[in-house]
Amino acid sequence: MKLRTLVFPVLLSVSLLVSSCQRSNEPLRGNTYLLGTVLNVAVHDGGYREELIDRVFERVAEIEARMSTSTTDYETTELLAVNRAAGANPVSVSADTYAVLQEALHFSRLTNGAFDVTIWPLVTLWGIGTDSARVPDRVEIDDARRLIDYSALELLPGREVRLPLAGMGVDVGAIAKGYAADEASRILREAGVEHALLDFGGNILLLGSKPDGSPWRIGVQRPDGERSSFIGVLTLADQSVVTSGPYERFFEQDGVRYHHILDSATGYPAENGLSQVTIVAARSMVADALSTACYVLGLEEGRALVESLPEAEAIFVTEDRVVHLTEGIGDRFELTDPAYRLE
Ligand code: AMP
Ligand code: MG
Repeated sequence: MKLRTLVFPVLLSVSLLVSSCQRSNEPLRGNTYLLGTVLNVAVHDGGYREELIDRVFERVAEIEARMSTSTTDYETTELLAVNRAAGANPVSVSADTYAVLQEALHFSRLTNGAFDVTIWPLVTLWGIGTDSARVPDRVEIDDARRLIDYSALELLPGREVRLPLAGMGVDVGAIAKGYAADEASRILREAGVEHALLDFGGNILLLGSKPDGSPWRIGVQRPDGERSSFIGVLTLADQSVVTSGPYERFFEQDGVRYHHILDSATGYPAENGLSQVTIVAARSMVADALSTACYVLGLEEGRALVESLPEAEAIFVTEDRVVHLTEGIGDRFELTDPAYRLE
């Protein structure tokens, strides 16, 4: 079924839900399914109507319809058009898509390809999260790896995008949720909202503080994938918190788990002793890109990267249940689960 046909009935039911829970002092809430996950928005200022939340979700649906690379959800999108024209003509894209590709290229360069915007051939080959997920053979993996090269992505004047070789492709799955959260937050801010909490499938964005002026307390999820339990708490305002881990999307074959964060250096899911990475940054897109990148980079290189960036902090959890913090986050993170220990 096309996602677009699904979205509008969902929005309708969201509106009904929102109207039913508008009581005084209660936050205005809405939720829907987009970007492959459940989006929750809670506006904590009074006086807003459900139309505002509908506008937020319509904007996210627009971003999805431009940048999805899922052929099961969409016949075509701007990025599917770019990928289909690889090796041939440039494709003109919206300002949205162009901006996300520019950011994705920036993070590809910054991480020397640990984050690689041209990861698409490997993503489609593995098919993780689709019905056709399978472990490819070595030859297929090497063929796909040869097509991955962010430095070959051409972002041309006039918002035209081109990939030089047939078979190449871009994928913004590691950054689009962050971009969408930043856009959602912009819409709320422009409408005058000062206190809101956005949860886009675990990508958290905090607009302002809590209404009483105190910071929000955000649980850092447990790496075993149990979303309702936490290893610790972050105390924050006006920040985004994004976690990447192998439990988000995976499949099993012959008793082995294969997850969705791929290392283009090996062609396989990244394996380096990490069980998850959480990034805190003001912009959700930055947190989203860096959490995926750091998961691929591993503890040492990932931490060095984040320490070099004044705008981001990180919490790494290693498979031996040790929690490693970057320098600037220590006073805002409290470990609560005794099964884990701070480095
Ligand atoms: P996230 O859940 O934000 O960590 O992003 C994971 C998604 O990003 C995957 O489902 C792929 O669509 C894409 N992806 C996987 N590996 C990489 C990579 N090395 N660089 C960039 N994007 C990736
Ligand atoms: Mg990400």
